[in-house]
Amino acid sequence: MKTIVIKFGGSSLADPGRIRRAAAMVLAERRRGRLPVAVVSAPADSTDDLLKLGVLTGGGATAPRETDALMAAGEQISAALMAMAIEAEGGKAVSLTGAQAGIRTDAVFSAAAVRLVAPGRLRRELRAGRIPVVAGFQGVSPAGDVTTLGRGGSDLTAVVLARALGSELCEFRTDVKGIYTAHPAIVPEARKLREISYAELIALAGLGTEVRQLRAVRYAARHRIPLHLRSSFHAEPGTLVRAASLPGPSCLSLKREGRNALVSVIGAGLGKPALERALAAAAAAGVRAAALARGRHSFTLAAAAPDGEKLLRVLHTVFFS
Ligand code: ASP
Ligand code: MG
Repeated sequence: MKTIVIKFGGSSLADPGRIRRAAAMVLAERRRGRLPVAVVSAPADSTDDLLKLGVLTGGGATAPRETDALMAAGEQISAALMAMAIEAEGGKAVSLTGAQAGIRTDAVFSAAAVRLVAPGRLRRELRAGRIPVVAGFQGVSPAGDVTTLGRGGSDLTAVVLARALGSELCEFRTDVKGIYTAHPAIVPEARKLREISYAELIALAGLGTEVRQLRAVRYAARHRIPLHLRSSFHAEPGTLVRAASLPGPSCLSLKREGRNALVSVIGAGLGKPALERALAAAAAAGVRAAALARGRHSFTLAAAAPDGEKLLRVLHTVFFS
């Protein structure tokens, strides 16, 4: 039977009710006939809380090994709770640390690279009819120490497991429904994208938008792992990530950087005419904007920070209406 990796973000695991809801989603997938492997982040803001606790206790930057041991505990809490919730809903589940799931890394604490995934234990658990719930964001070093994979690293856990198991799909369940043409809180007419390409997602992640961990998206692109970015709270489909880019603009991003707002247009084959259209529209709307950078899958305009949201709305009208 084919496997599917389903990764839940921390806000989807913030309290017992949400964990039970996530567990029910995993079981629903099992009933649809695919073998789910769940990957979990630490509950809500607990990674930041743990980091602060480490610093207050005298650790922090001077104690890299213990900081990783501390941070990894957040994901282990989620994994154990999620396994309990699946069992409470009538399923069979087993929580696994990164090490137990076979994720072997180098010894670079707080930014370890995955060297190898040995999925034997995962396969055995699947054969025994149990749903593995893997603590994201962590692995084990050659010396046997707990390592972590950089902030947002549960995404990397999900894609490396998907590759090692030859999964059909790697789903990311979060508190957003997918990728939108622009942030819907700022641009009410923004639409959810049915598809986006790896290259565009890499551009978006590289621009500092909190979509998915950049390392994880690059890994997925390199190994052509199909991704589905969708909601933990709604059944509706989200945004699929595929190899081919359709020509033209896909979405916009807005980022504040000091006193500037950076508005980027992400898409394939955006030539100079698109950039000139954007600059002309900004000028017509009375927003002073300058072209900042042009990449293969994006270009960026800079404006004064208070003009950022207006510029985003102007460009949305130009490219998406
Ligand atoms: N909990 C870790 C973080 O906040 C890893 C993750 O959520 O993916 O960065
Ligand atoms: Mg987190």
